Amino acid sequence: MPYDDSPPSPESASSVSTERRWFARRSGLAVGAAVLAPTALAGWVLVQVTTGAGADDARPPRIVMPAASPTDGTAATPSSAPAEGPAKSPAAAPAKGPLAGKTVVIDPGHNTGNFKHASEIDKKVDIGTNRKECDTTGTTTNSGYMEAEFTLDVSRRLRTALEAKGLKVVLTHQADRPFGPCIDERARIGNEAAADAVVSVHADGVSEGNRGYHIILPAKVKGGAADTAKIVGPSRDLGERIASNFARTTGSAPANYLGGGTGLVVRDDLGGLNLSTQPKVFIECGNMRDSKDAALLTSPEWRQKAAQGIADGIVGFLGG
Ligand code: ZN
Repeated sequence: MPYDDSPPSPESASSVSTERRWFARRSGLAVGAAVLAPTALAGWVLVQVTTGAGADDARPPRIVMPAASPTDGTAATPSSAPAEGPAKSPAAAPAKGPLAGKTVVIDPGHNTGNFKHASEIDKKVDIGTNRKECDTTGTTTNSGYMEAEFTLDVSRRLRTALEAKGLKVVLTHQADRPFGPCIDERARIGNEAAADAVVSVHADGVSEGNRGYHIILPAKVKGGAADTAKIVGPSRDLGERIASNFARTTGSAPANYLGGGTGLVVRDDLGGLNLSTQPKVFIECGNMRDSKDAALLTSPEWRQKAAQGIADGIVGFLGG
């Protein structure tokens, strides 16, 4: 949801899994080294033990770990080591046709660290027509799955789908900062990228029984730095395309609690829309506080369908 103060769970599943991946990667690299040069390594470990050196050595004690690791068959072959390295998957070929040279900015709503930075995110920022909080914590499911985890996961899946089409994709954040960005900066990132389309990904947090998705479109506003006259039309086109494709890929229905069954809502109070100079919409993918919607939102398979629907809508909007 764009603005709410529901307390999130202090435990972040994503941070735990990140830690596990980090450990696995380091272990895998170390195992690879051990298999490639077992004799040299054994000699080095022996030297370390017999001389007592190590505290100031550039190589930390973890290099000793492989001695016990060959019994762990998960990553013990040399051929597995390169796959554990920092190399990313090869970039898709540049887009041809109408998608060539186009940029999409994806804005994962909230940040899993926001609840630890209440004073920072409560600071007001100028949204042209008003002043509003820098950012909010977002909502959670009743079992504690954070909206900010959901939005980042869907955004990453969306990035992958769009890059496969050859589009340039920018995320406003990706677990690389302790909180935020503030809503004015989220808009500025899209503006400075001269994005051809911007989508802010959210899930709502209203009461049980309220279900379904909705797209939030910018109202025509003018005030201070806010002037949406040029983006109202194209943003509606973008939003309608996302709505229809999202419904198709997920099987979800438009929200039953607002928007009159259209899945479309126009708002004039969101800084992320008011300050945008580029076609932009928010999507509320479902209601995290409804048990049936929560079962969907917490499913990786469903999130993949959600990302694909949003991607298809964006690509259609861009003429691809
Ligand atoms: Zn939200």
